[in-house]
Amino acid sequence: MYLFQGIDDLRRFLTAEQVNNRTVGFVPTMGALHDGHLSLIRQSKTENQITVCSIFVNPTQFNDAADLDKYPRMPGKDLEKLASVGCHAVFLPQVEEIYPPGLDLSVTFDWNGLHEPMEGAHRPGHFAGVAQVVKRLLDLVKPDHLYMGQKDYQQLQIIRQMVKELKLPVKVHRVPTVREADGLAMSSRNMLLSEEHRAEAPLIYNTLLQAGEKLQQGVSVAELEAWALEQLSTSLLRPEYFTLADAETLQPVQDTQDHKHIVACTAVWAGTVRLIDNHLLK
Ligand code: AMP
Repeated sequence: MYLFQGIDDLRRFLTAEQVNNRTVGFVPTMGALHDGHLSLIRQSKTENQITVCSIFVNPTQFNDAADLDKYPRMPGKDLEKLASVGCHAVFLPQVEEIYPPGLDLSVTFDWNGLHEPMEGAHRPGHFAGVAQVVKRLLDLVKPDHLYMGQKDYQQLQIIRQMVKELKLPVKVHRVPTVREADGLAMSSRNMLLSEEHRAEAPLIYNTLLQAGEKLQQGVSVAELEAWALEQLSTSLLRPEYFTLADAETLQPVQDTQDHKHIVACTAVWAGTVRLIDNHLLK
């Protein structure tokens, strides 16, 4: 496995592969890797000749300095895991490499309102930072295929929209959420949970699943959202939102009949750790 910290070395390696028409799959991450990340790598490996993973804790997508500070970083372990699944190359840049002073890396495109609800409403500037770093990394890696997790559903829809609007020559793939045995979506943030919070956290996915059943039984959207918020308000958990959204436009659902596909999305505080999850209900 190759490890690149500088753009020039990364480009030299990739240019040699790309002139030989080798397809490149790309998996951008912020590290502290778990089996969810590794499933993206595995999928890329089955569909491409070369798989590149980046590990970069992107400061521009954190709207809270304390969150950025405490974000787990463990490059040594990450490299071991990537090598174990046969990832070909890892890009591990410093902040100055991605954001050199003086370079304008702002990204402008029609977001089609995708950034407004849910995470967008609760984390101002977050998606601007995500779009900026993904665009920058796509420009550097120039992959044929980009792999992203359903776990971050809104992020995935926004990147799809960016790729479409800017006509970027890359195909975006959605990879299903990988979960712990008790249903909790794998996340780098899970390791920050106390034992007590970790024990209650499976309630998040449980509630998403039950919401799907209730929808089938004809419970109204308003009732269902209120029920879910109450269910998730325990002595240790505090929900920030629980929203039924159109799975394409992400706009809130009022009447389920009006939408072909519906996704339930939620963000829940478990102590000082903010967890997100989602489930396609229709
Ligand atoms: P992150 O390191 O959290 O920025 O995530 C990097 C990529 O891995 C994103 O495309 C995430 O959606 C994806 N990802 C994170 N957790 C999971 C999971 N549990 N299952 C599948 N994909 C995931």
